Amino acid sequence: MVTEVSAVVERIYGDVLRRNPGETEFHQAVREVLDSLAVVLERHREYTEMKTIERICEPERQVIFRVPWQDDRGVVWINRGFRVEFNSALGPYKGGLRFHPSVNLGIVKFLGFEQVFKNALTGMPIGGGKGGSDFDPKGRSDAEVMRFCQSFMTELYRHLGEYTDVPAGDIGVGSREIGFLFGQYKRITNRYESGVLTGKGLGWGGAQVRTEATGYGAAFFAQAMMEVAGESFEGKRATVSGSGNVAVYGIEKVHQLGGTAVACSDSTGYVVDDKGIDLEVLKQVKEIERGRISAYADRVPSAHYVEGGSIWDVPCDVAVPSATQNELDADAAATLARNRCRYVVEGANMPTTPEAVRIFREAGVGFAPGKAANAGGVATSALEMQQNASRDRWTFEHSEARLEEIMRGIHTRCHRTAEEYGAPGDLVLGANVAGFLEVADAVHAHGLI
Ligand code: NDP
Repeated sequence: MVTEVSAVVERIYGDVLRRNPGETEFHQAVREVLDSLAVVLERHREYTEMKTIERICEPERQVIFRVPWQDDRGVVWINRGFRVEFNSALGPYKGGLRFHPSVNLGIVKFLGFEQVFKNALTGMPIGGGKGGSDFDPKGRSDAEVMRFCQSFMTELYRHLGEYTDVPAGDIGVGSREIGFLFGQYKRITNRYESGVLTGKGLGWGGAQVRTEATGYGAAFFAQAMMEVAGESFEGKRATVSGSGNVAVYGIEKVHQLGGTAVACSDSTGYVVDDKGIDLEVLKQVKEIERGRISAYADRVPSAHYVEGGSIWDVPCDVAVPSATQNELDADAAATLARNRCRYVVEGANMPTTPEAVRIFREAGVGFAPGKAANAGGVATSALEMQQNASRDRWTFEHSEARLEEIMRGIHTRCHRTAEEYGAPGDLVLGANVAGFLEVADAVHAHGLI
C-alpha cells in the first residue's frame, strides 16, 4: 500500500512538472503538499480514484493580459497582468494581487495554490486565487501608479465580482493601489460593489484590523505554538525580515505580547536595534515616506544598518520571515539553529526553502508554515466581506478578538491533524492535510467538474 501510494504521488508530481514547465516555485509548492498527502491517500482510496489531487493541482481558470500605460514623461510601458482562479470549491476565488518585477505565471500559480489550502484552514467560505503584474511601483509617482491600476482593472474587472473573484493586496499592493483599483471597477461597472475587493480604506468599506491582520495573526499563531510548550513571548528576541505590511504589524504585535523585535530589513539590507525596533520611526520611514530601511538607522542612535548580508545572522529566539519566497535558505537555517532560535513562523508565503525546513525539523526548531501562520490577512478579508454584505462596521477590538480566535483555531486544527496522522508537532503536515481534506470534500460534493 505504501509503495502504491508513493507511486501515485510521484506520478502526480511528474504530471505537474510536465504540464507546467519552468514554473519552479509552483513545483516547489506542489511538492511540499504532495509529500504531506501520502498519509491521506493511504486512508482514502477515493481521492486516488477520483483524481482529487490532480484536480486541485490544476487551476480552474488562468487569465493573462496586456497592461499598457504611460508614465509622467509620456513614455509608453507594456506590463503583463495575471489572475489565476485556482479553486472555487469553498467560495468565490479569494487572494491578493502582487505588483513586483519578479511576477510571472509560476509565481502567481504557487501563490494561488497555497491560497487554496490557507483559505480552507480559516474555516471561512472562500476559494483560492491570486494575481498581479510584473509592474514595479517602486519610485513611481502616485499618478503613474493610478494610471497603471486603472489600465490593469480595465481588463481584470470582467473576471471579478463579489460572488466570483475577490482580490486583495500583496507585495506592492496596499490601500493606495486598492483605492485606485476599486475606483476604476466602480466606474466601469457603475456598481458600488464593496465586496469585490478587500483591503479598502476605512472610510469607504474597509474593515478594522485588515491592515494589521497578517502580521498580528502570525504573532498570535506564534503565541499559540509557544503555549503548547508552556512558553510565551515574554523576554524573547525576534527577527522579522521585510519592512512592509506583514513585517511592520508583526513587529507591533510581538511587542504587545511581551517580546522584542530587534531586526527588520528590505531588499537592500537590514537594521539591528537591540533596544527593540521603534515602530513610530519604522512606520514614518516605510509607510509615510516610502523610503529605504537604512533611513531607520540614520535616525535611531541604538540601531545600525548592514548593507546586503543576511538578517538571519542576527541571534534570536523567534524568526519571522515576512518578505518573500525562498528568502531563508539552508545556510540561514543552520545559522539560526546554531544560534538557538526556537521558533520559525512564516509571515510571508513560502519564504523558507525545503532544505531549510528539513534543517529546522532535525534541530527540533518549531516551524509554522505560511499557509497557516499568515492566514490572518485573508481571514480578516473574509470578515471585511461579511461586513460589506451586511452593511455593518465592527470595532477594532471586536475584529481583533475574531482574528485571534481564528488564528488559535487554525493552530489547534493543524496541531491535532498532525497528531491524528502520526506526525505530532509537524505543523506543515497538519496544515496541508487539514486544508486538503476540507477542499477535497467540497470538490467531491460538487461532482466531476
Ligand atoms: P509589502 O510590499 O508591504 O512588503 C514587502 C517587503 O518585503 C518589503 O520590505 C520588501 O523590500 C521586501 N521584499 C520584497 N521582495 C523582496 C525580495 N525579492 N528580496 C528581499 N526583500 C524583498 O508586502 P507584504 O508585507 O504585504 O507581503 C510580504 C509577504 O507576505 C509576501 O510573501 C506576501 O505574499 C505575504 N503575505 C501578505 C499578506 C498581506 O496581507 N499583505 C497576506 C499573506 C501573506 P523592498 O521594499 O526593498 O522591495
